[in-house]
Amino acid sequence: MAEQFDRQKVWFVGAGPGDISLITLKGYRILQQADIVIYAGSLINTDLLDYCKDGVESYDSAAMTLDDIITVMVDGVKSHKLVVRLQTGDLSLYGSIREQGEVLAEHNIGFSAIPGVSSFLGAAAELGVEYTVPEVSQSLIITRIEGRTPMPPKESLRSFAAHQTSMAIFLSVQDIKGVVEQLTEGGYPETTPVAVVYKATWPDCQVLRSTLAEITVAVRDAKIRKTALILVGPFLGDEYHYSKLYDAGFSHEYRKASR
Ligand code: SAH
Repeated sequence: MAEQFDRQKVWFVGAGPGDISLITLKGYRILQQADIVIYAGSLINTDLLDYCKDGVESYDSAAMTLDDIITVMVDGVKSHKLVVRLQTGDLSLYGSIREQGEVLAEHNIGFSAIPGVSSFLGAAAELGVEYTVPEVSQSLIITRIEGRTPMPPKESLRSFAAHQTSMAIFLSVQDIKGVVEQLTEGGYPETTPVAVVYKATWPDCQVLRSTLAEITVAVRDAKIRKTALILVGPFLGDEYHYSKLYDAGFSHEYRKASR
């Protein structure tokens, strides 16, 4: 039997990074049943709407204000329609679901979230890399440069650079020069490897691999100004240590050392 979704609330759905097969099975099922879909047209792959039934009402939120979006949601729920809000990647990163949820609450309407594959995961898959490399980097900082949204004072790129761990920088490629300046001032050597991944998992994905010293020119030459992640850190370099987990000389709960 088809999965049933409660029509008395709004469903926020992570669309994944681009490839339409990278939405979750639950996200796919709810799209098939949706009566109304409000999607972030500037970022999601609109081929996802092909999963919807004929007659679905779809709205591109790019041209809508928060009030417009809420009106469509509230009217939809009150008419017992299944309302889906489709947003890029996963909802928990730069997703702004909280403000939508708060206004819905004023109308006594709740919401549920269906997670998605974030673009930083799509980008790592595109490169075939791990953010965590034994004895090189065991932490990942997900951040952005200050734009119209001010950064909390303790979260400057400069201060994060002091850790010299792996970083995935969202919403910042338009200011690659500023990113590089802050990272080098903060402590990353100019030789630190950098990758810029434009439209990870889309057919027209582009990958630039370079160093902090040279990435600015590469990004300008490639004319990449949006929908890209800047990945920085020695995890992209040559230094590497084998994981102890599969080491024949290392015992753990499920296996005794064989040498
Ligand atoms: N919630 C989303 C992020 C939304 S903010 C997620 O989890 O991925 C929008 C930013 O995400 C873009 O400016 C870009 O930095 C990044 N982004 C989204 N999709 C991308 C993709 N397919 N490839 C590279 N970066 C992407």
